[in-house]
Amino acid sequence: MKVYKFGGASVKDATGIKNLGKIVQEENSSLVVVVSAFGKTTNALEKVLNAWFAGDGHHEVLLDEVYKLHLLIINELFGNNSEVKAKIDISFMHLKDYLMSASKGKYDFEYDQVVSHGEIWSTLIVEAFLRSTGLNAKWIDARELLITDDRFRDANIHWGESSVRIKKAIDFSKNQIFLTQGFIGGTIAGQSTTLGREGSDYTAAVIANLLDAECVVIWKDVPGILNADPKWRTDAIRLSEISYKEAVEMTFSGAKVIHPKTIKPLHNKNIPLYVKSFINPQERGTIVKADAKPEKIVPIFIRKEDQVLISILPKDFSFAMGDNLSRVFHSFIINGIKVNLVQASAVSIDVCVDDDRLKVDSLIKDLAQEFKTIYNDEAEMLSIRHYTKEAINSITLDREILLEQRTRRIVRFVVKKQDKPV
Ligand code: ASP
Ligand code: MG
Repeated sequence: MKVYKFGGASVKDATGIKNLGKIVQEENSSLVVVVSAFGKTTNALEKVLNAWFAGDGHHEVLLDEVYKLHLLIINELFGNNSEVKAKIDISFMHLKDYLMSASKGKYDFEYDQVVSHGEIWSTLIVEAFLRSTGLNAKWIDARELLITDDRFRDANIHWGESSVRIKKAIDFSKNQIFLTQGFIGGTIAGQSTTLGREGSDYTAAVIANLLDAECVVIWKDVPGILNADPKWRTDAIRLSEISYKEAVEMTFSGAKVIHPKTIKPLHNKNIPLYVKSFINPQERGTIVKADAKPEKIVPIFIRKEDQVLISILPKDFSFAMGDNLSRVFHSFIINGIKVNLVQASAVSIDVCVDDDRLKVDSLIKDLAQEFKTIYNDEAEMLSIRHYTKEAINSITLDREILLEQRTRRIVRFVVKKQDKPV
């Protein structure tokens, strides 16, 4: 069996869903199809949630806009009298009722209860469409199959329980195609959870791992994994093959093409990952696997925006390494801050992290007694794997470099953000 994953950009309108149908139709193997919310629905639902929390009464209008978008797609696919419309109407009504209830829980909890709807709506509509084309696709509810802990917005999979449930639900002797939601799961107690933004790739990898899939295919609106974000560098080219290690390093450094957590479950079972163009499905795309043999090694450029560079200096001028190091990193962990780069000298530790002001402020407060902290916001982290002199020149020219770090294979620069040309 194979796992296919379609992201929001692939299912942003009726044409996209029809295209998904064609791609699924052409596959002869048994399939689990993982689908994200339509287009930018997740962003839109975040806005609904924030308006609800702000209590300004605006959330209903925003939710209505989300509804209209789904209705438009339904009308285009099925005309205006369809069974699936009734299902979607009921689900929207439930959500509206939920948002009318006076008491709000913690933000992260409510986030998952509200935002998880996007994937439910998209998969109900895709299921109806596949059935209308004669494909016998069975809709399954990831909230009851992918069991997680209750770390809302960044839930961790309970592998044992999920394995039992998924294997029971997915029986290919009964159906050849199963359709489920990316990004979402549920606790044992039945509360919805989410796995982190853009987490549908990870869902596909988890299911592939649990079912020992032959491969995972992520269908995207780009021709595969490129050596740079084409919005940043117009000379970006497709990489034909890369290793799991290369893929992990790239995504961790900030390459957005696949979610960083996707690779581990695939690596652990030696399952190859294909990243292919949704627009030109016959093209080869990129394959990620253990024994990748790239045609030629080219520099890979990765940009991580919205960074802060924090320098942490022990006030008593003691060495930064040793006890101070564990004290400092403990504070990063308890404040939920992921570290993107570390560099230490005798009396200072420099750390580059995502610019999440609340978390960074809380970290600085926590360290304030023993450490002086200096921070540079408005920063970006630029990395080049397999760097060359020309490659370095091409990204550092005219940039104010705050920090540089170099190993044999990779060079990283933390630079000041550039003002966008107007
Ligand atoms: N719909 C979710 C998001 O936009 C998950 C995903 O697309 O992978 O973050
Ligand atoms: Mg998405």
